[in-house]
Amino acid sequence: MKRQEKADRIREQLAKLYPDPPIPLDHSDPFTLLIAVLLSAQTTDARVNKVTPGLFARAGTPAAMAKLRVEEILAEIRTCGLAPAKAKNIAALSKILMEKHGGKVPRSFEELEALPGVGHKTASVVMTQAFGHPAFPVDTHIHRLAERWGLSDGTSVEKTERDLKALFPESTWNKLHLQIIYFGREHCPALRHDMTQCPICSWAASKKRQQQG
Ligand code: SF4
Repeated sequence: MKRQEKADRIREQLAKLYPDPPIPLDHSDPFTLLIAVLLSAQTTDARVNKVTPGLFARAGTPAAMAKLRVEEILAEIRTCGLAPAKAKNIAALSKILMEKHGGKVPRSFEELEALPGVGHKTASVVMTQAFGHPAFPVDTHIHRLAERWGLSDGTSVEKTERDLKALFPESTWNKLHLQIIYFGREHCPALRHDMTQCPICSWAASKKRQQQG
């Protein structure tokens, strides 16, 4: 099966399984989304959704967050992975938003990626989910699945992003990245995959992959 045919079939299957995938991180505006995405590195979305209500009750805007000390932020997010580094980044980026961006989250990749703790994936999530700009955030799960499904060769996250953008229509990117994430969470265990039982790998994975299980 050609790569493009595979991509089309995967897209149709995911659209049936997850017709309307919700944004998994609770937020109310671009700033709270940015902070939630930053907190989600090496932390489950469920954990992030537990800590953000307390944090945002204390500081739900860049102005309020910029006034908190790093230790105060840390106390709210302590149960997240990499909490000390994240607390520092949240404090620093809130100050930058106040000083350079008029207290608003900027709407460009360049400006977002210049903020402390904000990489290309985080910027992509904010651009697409907060601002509706076409972007295809690729996390490690999407990267791995794209390789298993034979949609990319797995050399780098950057290459996977380019390949997926070329295979899927721009208008589907936002939904699709969420659909792949939900599919991975539901179907991809950390160990032991029974590819014959899997709704996508059973027909999409390469022979080599199927033998590896
Ligand atoms: S076999 Fe299914 S569960 Fe395993 S990686 Fe492929 S899609 Fe995920």
